[in-house]
Amino acid sequence: MEMRIKDAIVGLCVADALGVPVEFCSREALKENPVVGMRAFGTYNQPAGTWSDDTSMTLCLVDSLLNGLNYSDIMDKFLKWLREGAYTPYGEAFDIGRTTRAAITRYAGGTPPLACGGTAEHDNGNGSLMRILPLLFYLHAVYGPDFICNEEAMGIIHNVSALTHAHKRSQIACGIYLSIAEELLQKSNPVGAFTEGTDRAFAYYRKHDEFAAELTYYDRLVQKDFANLPEKEIKSSGYVVHSLEAALWCLLNTNSYRDCVLLAVNLGDDTDTVAAIAGGLAGLNYGYGCIPGEWLHVIAKRDYIEHLCRQYEETLKKLAMENSVPASRLSERATD
Ligand SMILES: [Mg+2]
Repeated sequence: MEMRIKDAIVGLCVADALGVPVEFCSREALKENPVVGMRAFGTYNQPAGTWSDDTSMTLCLVDSLLNGLNYSDIMDKFLKWLREGAYTPYGEAFDIGRTTRAAITRYAGGTPPLACGGTAEHDNGNGSLMRILPLLFYLHAVYGPDFICNEEAMGIIHNVSALTHAHKRSQIACGIYLSIAEELLQKSNPVGAFTEGTDRAFAYYRKHDEFAAELTYYDRLVQKDFANLPEKEIKSSGYVVHSLEAALWCLLNTNSYRDCVLLAVNLGDDTDTVAAIAGGLAGLNYGYGCIPGEWLHVIAKRDYIEHLCRQYEETLKKLAMENSVPASRLSERATD
């Protein structure tokens, strides 16, 4: 029995660590000297296998969801990460986004959690998208595989984004991403999961006037031949629309975990986060067993991360039972 939670979370973490040493490198520079495995030093001068904010904030959410959904508790854990270096490889938070830092600082100053996130157009970095994946398993356990049609479940996605990123565009990115991830939980077929997942998310957002206008920023995802866009059309910046497009494009244009996350890293710019977003989905699709062992071996605090994933799975199995949701998809990979 393999754990799908571990597939996704470790998939995200390993990809983050691959990208950390070359964050902000240009695509041209990486064409000259492409990343092919775990590197040490680089942008943040860290040992090989060092993961960053993307994984740290993802682990904050996992740890918080062990005790149910509590927005204040999630923010408490973000604050512990930012101030005390909790949920980090070596006791120090690094690579913190501007919008994220501002939101956590507001929370520390007494602002209620759901009023902390940035709402301006320039607050649409990838900072909530990169940490939303653990919510997939919680929503699946509580609302079942059709959570993308459920108002309450979608409200939770938007709220968890809004803790730091409260603009509709960032919230939609999280909704589309989790919709595709849920499809990958059902079947290991990136093209099918991408098509179904985007269709279902778009159907939801088109019906909601407050989101419909913002949805147009994601139109390329539902245009024919998105996967066949040439690489030069794919931007890999920290802007949430670019990051989501780039991550999905990498998933659609590769056939293994390794190729997917290396393609993402070598797009350059926001390497660790684009790779983390892609790596979570690639992990779900290909499974933990397909993550190269030589990469896993150097991941900082791997035992701790995997322990947290196991705890989360146990918690959610109970929750799924209470909510009469078949929990099998949380544990076993589909064989198709
Ligand atoms: Mg990072």
